[in-house]
Amino acid sequence: MKETSPLNLYKFLPQTNCGDCGEQTCMAFAAGLINRERTVEECKPLFDEKKQKKYAKKLAKLRDVIAPEVALVYIGTGDKQVKVGGEDVMYRHQMTFFNKPPFAYDVTDSMNEADLVERVKLIDTWKKFYIGNWEEIEMVAVRSVTGDADKFAKCVKKVVENTDKPLILCSFDPKVLKAGLEVCAEKRPLIYAATKENWKEVAQLAYDYKVPVTLRAPFDLDGLVSMVLTFKEMGINDLVLDPGTAPNGEKLQETLQNFIKLRRAAVEESQKDFSYPVMALPINAWMTTDDPVRGAYWESVISAAFVCRGADIMVRHSIEPHSVMPDMHMRFNIYTDPRTPVQVKPGLNKVGKPNEDSPIFLTTNFALTYYTVESDLGSNDIDCYLLAVNTDGIGVQASVAGGQLTPSKIKDAFAEAEVDFAKTSHKSFILPGMAAKFSGELDDLYKYEVKALVGPEDSGRIPGWMEKQWPPKK
Ligand code: SF4
Repeated sequence: MKETSPLNLYKFLPQTNCGDCGEQTCMAFAAGLINRERTVEECKPLFDEKKQKKYAKKLAKLRDVIAPEVALVYIGTGDKQVKVGGEDVMYRHQMTFFNKPPFAYDVTDSMNEADLVERVKLIDTWKKFYIGNWEEIEMVAVRSVTGDADKFAKCVKKVVENTDKPLILCSFDPKVLKAGLEVCAEKRPLIYAATKENWKEVAQLAYDYKVPVTLRAPFDLDGLVSMVLTFKEMGINDLVLDPGTAPNGEKLQETLQNFIKLRRAAVEESQKDFSYPVMALPINAWMTTDDPVRGAYWESVISAAFVCRGADIMVRHSIEPHSVMPDMHMRFNIYTDPRTPVQVKPGLNKVGKPNEDSPIFLTTNFALTYYTVESDLGSNDIDCYLLAVNTDGIGVQASVAGGQLTPSKIKDAFAEAEVDFAKTSHKSFILPGMAAKFSGELDDLYKYEVKALVGPEDSGRIPGWMEKQWPPKK
C-alpha cells in the first residue's frame, strides 16, 4: 500500500459520511482500509450503478493506492483458503506483516494408500494451542515422484477425499499436472511449476483451469522476470515465484540474498515484475542427509530463516513436533501485529474445578502473561479463578508503571465480572507480586471487607506460595 495516512485515502472516498459501511465517517473507514480491517467493496456508494460515472475515477485510484506492494494470491476455496503475499514492508517493525507463510506438507504418489491417508489425516488434524491461538498446518503439497499421470490423479483424489486444505500440485510434467487439475481444479490449487522448459504448456493449464501458478527459475532472477512478463502478457496474474532454495553452503547464502532482493524490489522499489509472493522449499534440507533427526533439524533451521527473510509460502516434509513447533512459534511471533499487543478477552475464567474455597488470582489481559499464569496454575492442579483485567494488552509490570492497572480498575474488573466475595470462604483475592503496592489502597477501597493478598512476582512460584500462604490466616 503506497499510502499510510487516512487523510490521503479519504480524498478517494465519497466523503458523504453516509454511514452505510457501519462507520460514522469516511475518515474512520479510510483508517480501516489502511489497517486492512475494511475492504473497498464495503463502501457501497462507490459501487452504486447510478453514481458509477461520478465515482469511477476515485474507485480506480483507490484500488491502485491500497493494493499491497507484494501481490496477494489466493489458494484454495472456502474457509480453508490461504492468502499468500500481500505484504507492504521489508521489516515487521515498519508496520506489520499481514499473511503468515502457509506451511504445505508433502505427500507423494508413490505412497501406498494406507500411508497416504494416514499422513493426510495427520496434516489435516495437526493443531497446537499457542498464546490463545490454534496453530495449524495450512496446506498439502502433492508431489509426483513416479511421473505417472494416472497415479498422480489417483493420489490427488485420495488427498481431496481426506482433507479440504488447499493443495499444491507438484510436477514439471504438464501432462501430470493436467491429470491432477482434472481431479481438483475447482478447489483452486497452486500448480508447481512452470520452468524454462515447460512454461508454454503450464501457462496454458493455468489459463484454462484458472488456477495460480508457480514460476521456477533457480538462481536466475532475470530468467524469473522474463517468465513473469510472459505470463502477465497472457493475462495470468496469480503468480508465485520460486527463485530456488539451496539447503546449504554458499548457495544457501545466495538463496537468502535472492529472497531479500525480491522483497526489496517489490516493497522499496515498486518493481511490479518482482511484486509476487515467493516460495521457499525447506524440504530441500533432505537433499543433504538421510538421517531423520538431522534432516528434521536442518529443515526447521532453514524454515526459521525464511520466515524472517520474506518467504510467503513454504513446502516442508518433517512433521515431527520437534521440527514443526519451533517454526510455528517463530512464525506466530513474526506475524503478530507489533502495533497491538496480543490480548485475551478480559473477564473471569475458571482453571480446573474451583469452588467457594478456591483462590482468586488476577493478572492482565496481555496474552503472553495470561497464558503463562494459566498454564502454571493448570499444570500444578490448582483449582482456582483467574481474572484478566483489561490493560489494553499490556503486561503487569508495565501496566502498573503506566497506569493501565490501578486499584480502582481492579475493583471495577471484579465488579464487572460479578465476583461476590461474600460467597467465598476466604473473602480475598491474590495480586501479582509486581502489583504489591496496590495492596493497601485496595484494602481501603474494599473497606477491609475483602483482603488483597500479595502473590509471588513469578507465577511459577505460585505452588510454593500456596503451601505457605493458602488458605489465608483469619
Ligand atoms: S459507506 Fe463510503 S461514503 Fe458512506 S461513510 Fe462509509 S466510506 Fe463514507
